[in-house]
Amino acid sequence: MNLATAEKPRKPNWLRVKLPIGEEYRQVRNIVDTHKLHTICESGNCPNMGECWGEGTATFMILGNICTRSCGFCAVATGRPLPADLQEPKRVAEAILLMKVKHAVITSVDRDELPDGGSVIWQQTINAVRKLSPETTMETLIPDFKAEEENIQRIIDAAPDVVSHNIETVERLTRSVRIQAKYWRSMETLRFLKKGGMRTKSGIMLGLGETKDEVIQTMQDLKDNNVDVITIGQYLQPTPKHLPVHRFVHPSEFAELREIGYQMGFDYVESGPLVRSSYHSDRHVIPGLGRNEWEKATALKAAIAAKNN
Ligand code: SF4
Repeated sequence: MNLATAEKPRKPNWLRVKLPIGEEYRQVRNIVDTHKLHTICESGNCPNMGECWGEGTATFMILGNICTRSCGFCAVATGRPLPADLQEPKRVAEAILLMKVKHAVITSVDRDELPDGGSVIWQQTINAVRKLSPETTMETLIPDFKAEEENIQRIIDAAPDVVSHNIETVERLTRSVRIQAKYWRSMETLRFLKKGGMRTKSGIMLGLGETKDEVIQTMQDLKDNNVDVITIGQYLQPTPKHLPVHRFVHPSEFAELREIGYQMGFDYVESGPLVRSSYHSDRHVIPGLGRNEWEKATALKAAIAAKNN
């Protein structure tokens, strides 16, 4: 089916989002602007920005806002990045301290042109946040660092609470969706992080043309690489220049994948149309939280079913 001529699927009502308003949102806005920081919330047109900023949290993007890669789903600019800003670790740490956030998420563009892939700035940023805000838990959504262990080891040494790297889509679509990435190389990065004792996390987007079986196979591949946390959300086309949406997945299918994820053994499964990798990420740092809630709900459902029989 030629997608270019096919009818664009209409956005269903379950993807309606709250507009960003309120004092908390304005404060985050102000801190981000005064500290000249980039957020993936803005660069990525995240639908949850209103909710997250309204709760006083944001996902900071370090190493600039120009990426050396050109993933077909991503709204971040591609091109020749500016030199790394050595003051950025300090500015991010100060902003997080100012925001008094209980939990911080940090991500970055890919800097394949740098010999260390940007991992030194990453390590300095994590250490700077730890120093100023020792009580704040931290998730770091990192690039694949081309699975180069020396660069990944810098993240492990800084020991964030959760280290995530998104597989984004199924193996068959990786070449067209994440042009410069490799499916199994990303698995390697996740495996090395786990070997280093990290709590690991990865995310998949649906609606890019994958089949349900392929999604379940990708979940199994992540589980086989001992990933603890998985997020599953709906792909939304940032601009007409980006990959088209093949379909809007119904919330019931996300609920089914959530069940499958827990049956596979994931410790936390965040699955829903509006889910993005850092959505509710403060809950993902707590081992057993998601699984215990799922087990309790499953037992309750079984008890009610047994009572009704
Ligand atoms: S690596 Fe891909 S997803 Fe990440 S910022 Fe660059 S273009 Fe976007």
